[in-house]
Amino acid sequence: MDTNKELKVMFASSEITPFAKTGGLADVVSSLPKALSNLGNVDARMVIPKYGFIYDSAYNLKELPDTLKFSIRGFPYEVRVKYLDIDSCKVYFLEHHDILTRNDIYGYDDDGYRFGFFARAVIELAKFLDFKSDIFHCHDWHVGLIPVYMKTIYRDDPFFKDTATVFTIHNLAYQGRFPKELLPYLDIGWEEFKAEKMEFWGGLNFIKAGVMYSDVVNTVSRKYSQEIQTPEFGEALDSSLRFRSDDLYGIVNGIDYDVWNPATDEAIPVKYDLSSLDGKTTNKLALQRELGLPQDAQIPIIGFVSRLTYQKSPDIISDSAHEIISKGAQLALLGTGEEHYKYLFRKLAEDYPNNVGTITSFNDPLARLIYAGSDMFLMPSRFEPCGLSQLISMRYGTLPIARRTGGLADTVYEYDPTTGKGTGFLFDDMSSGALIWAVGRAIDVYRNDKQVWRKMIENAMESDFSWGNSAREYVNLYRKAIEKHNK
Ligand code: ADP
Repeated sequence: MDTNKELKVMFASSEITPFAKTGGLADVVSSLPKALSNLGNVDARMVIPKYGFIYDSAYNLKELPDTLKFSIRGFPYEVRVKYLDIDSCKVYFLEHHDILTRNDIYGYDDDGYRFGFFARAVIELAKFLDFKSDIFHCHDWHVGLIPVYMKTIYRDDPFFKDTATVFTIHNLAYQGRFPKELLPYLDIGWEEFKAEKMEFWGGLNFIKAGVMYSDVVNTVSRKYSQEIQTPEFGEALDSSLRFRSDDLYGIVNGIDYDVWNPATDEAIPVKYDLSSLDGKTTNKLALQRELGLPQDAQIPIIGFVSRLTYQKSPDIISDSAHEIISKGAQLALLGTGEEHYKYLFRKLAEDYPNNVGTITSFNDPLARLIYAGSDMFLMPSRFEPCGLSQLISMRYGTLPIARRTGGLADTVYEYDPTTGKGTGFLFDDMSSGALIWAVGRAIDVYRNDKQVWRKMIENAMESDFSWGNSAREYVNLYRKAIEKHNK
């Protein structure tokens, strides 16, 4: 194989920052293509549905003169293709008012059909653009049908003779499960409805489809790639993942160091770096003021920025809050998601007005203020495919207190006094007792060992979680997928 040949990669995803984001998936799909094209020999393009909230005027979108036309089961469809160039990568937005262009990303009864349609449209788009992709890089269940179509409808299409598929699992908990009756509408034959293919407990499972049909599969940290092959973390797909274990890899996510940088971040009151940590203290006072908490630089403040779901353990935080507060700490809680968790967090702010500040919305500038102004960052996840928040917090000199699972175990290191290495505080048990113990250790070092605290901040801020290394690993993964495809 000619390893110097330019690689053409088409990224397909339901979320891309800044256009549509509910979590880390969007950040990864916007920053990895940029990192790949920075390597020099990758032409990376991205495709996303054009949701109703993505306005042409907000981003100055351009439009291709011709519409994309294709048919599914004999029915003709027409999709408008808008596009934008960012950081030497092209992003395509597929507009179809009935199916794709709606006001929310997810949550419709026909999501199975919508994302099946999107998968089909992505493949047709490559042809329409005459973009002979070496790789379709598919992210999570929403585009799990691309590998299926590539092995069925498009299997003998000469245009795609050299196109391999890579499927990345960002979160196995979201699987895209739909009734089997949808299958014919997706233009997929019943011969695919088998346990070793895309059938799952009598229905369809799009993430399983991605796993079973793609040339190679990967997840977003090495540890999670191992965990998901066990019943404990496998979300009932562990046997399918073990079946693909020879083609299953783990590549840890990076973060975009231009987007997340305390020295250039316009959203925080004072920019800072390692040589000007006073700026961090000023941000801390601003955060306390913003949340209506007593302003005092000596009080340890612990941040949390997250989707509010079971995975992220907001219930454990709530159960631990009283003890944490009795250690004299403040909590800065930002999250949106399930109503009962929002209630728990709001109640904490009501019960402890001097110690807890809660905002239950999606708020990027406030998230940045929390990363910059907190001393510690809480991530007691029940499972964590990679996690970006701990990487961001370390970049901002805020030390993670995290459960040793998935990507957290791969990226946060406990302080070792003999080597002086370490960036955070880890715990194993999924209990408030274990969390309180870890928080207690963090507060103890914060209060009583300023030198170690300073050293840990240095270690965190000097860690390299930029995309460079992981982007190179993805290039190797693409080469493996091509090899596999050509076998
Ligand atoms: P996940 O992808 O599981 O949601 P990650 O840690 O990988 O978790 O990524 C979360 C991303 O979403 C981070 O960039 C984080 O700052 C952002 N985020 C999560 N919740 C919010 C919120 N309520 N407001 C602003 N940003 C948020």
